[in-house]
Amino acid sequence: MPTVIHVSPHPDDESIAAPCTLLALRDAGWRVINFAASLGRPEVHARREAELRAALDVAGFELHTSRAAISRGDDLGSSRKALSFELITLIRDTGAVLVVGPHARDGHHGHQTVARAIRQAVWDAPRPVTWWMWSIWADLPRPTLVAECAEKHLDLGREMLDCYPGETGRNDYRRMQESLWTLNAVRGVEKAFGFGSAPDARLRGITHAELFTEVRAVRRRWQVAAPRVLGAPPTLPGDTGWRDLDDISLLSSTRLRPLYQPWMLSLSARMGWPGRYDEFASRPRPWRQLRRVVPAAARSAWSRAWEKPRRS
Ligand SMILES: [Zn+2]
Repeated sequence: MPTVIHVSPHPDDESIAAPCTLLALRDAGWRVINFAASLGRPEVHARREAELRAALDVAGFELHTSRAAISRGDDLGSSRKALSFELITLIRDTGAVLVVGPHARDGHHGHQTVARAIRQAVWDAPRPVTWWMWSIWADLPRPTLVAECAEKHLDLGREMLDCYPGETGRNDYRRMQESLWTLNAVRGVEKAFGFGSAPDARLRGITHAELFTEVRAVRRRWQVAAPRVLGAPPTLPGDTGWRDLDDISLLSSTRLRPLYQPWMLSLSARMGWPGRYDEFASRPRPWRQLRRVVPAAARSAWSRAWEKPRRS
C-alpha cells in the first residue's frame, strides 16, 4: 500500500488545499497520513485538535501530530529544523513516496516555514520522494498538476471543513474553499498547460479542481514533472515524466525578495521604466545606460543643493 504524507501547517489546511486529491488517493488504496505541523497558538490547542480529529474522522486519514511553533514571533528557524527532522523520520518509518504540502511562497509565514522543512526533507530523503506543492494564500507560481474533484469528494471536503466551527466562524473559509476549486478549474488549467489550451480534450468539463506543482529530488538534482491531469486512480509520473528543474525560483521562498531594493526602484523610475528591476536587467548593455544616468542624477542633486532657498 503506497503512503502519502500531507503536511498541514494548521488544522483546516488539509480541508482547504487538497481534500479531494487526498480522498482520491485514499479511495485508490493509499495510506493517507496527515502530519499536523502545528495546532495554532497554545491557548487554542485543545479546540483545534478536537476539530482536526473530527475532520480526519470524516476523511478516514491517520493523524501524526507535531506541536511546532510557527506563529508570528516564534523562532521559525528552529521550528523548520525540528519539523524537517520529524518529517524525514516519518518518511523513513512509513516508506512514504509522496509528500503533499504548501509552496515556499504561500503567503503565510507558518506555511512558508513548513514548506522549507518539506524542501529539506525531500532533498535529504534516502530515495526519491515526490512533493506536490499547493498554495492557499498566494498564487501557485507554476502549477503542473491538475486534479479534478469528484462530486463525492467535494461533498466530503465540505463536510471536513464544517468540522472547524472555531475557524469558519471567525472567517468564512467555506467560501474560500469553493472559490479556490472554481478558480483552479478555470484559471489553473490555463496556467498549467499554457494560455489558450482550454478547452483541451483532457480539460473539458472540469468544473472543480485542485492544483499542484510536482517536483522531486533525485541524487541531489531537482526535477519538475511535465504538466498533466491527475488520472483516476491517481498515479505518480513515470520516470519519463520528469525533467531537470529549469527555474530554481520554483522552490524559493520570499527570502529572495531583497533583490527588489528601493534604490533599484528609484533608479528605474529615474530612467523612465515602470519600476521593474528585471526590465532594467534585460536591457541591452544596462551598465552603459547606467553610466549616462548616474552623472545626470549627480548633476541634478548638485544643482538642487546649490539652489537658493526660497524666501517665504
Ligand atoms: Zn494555515
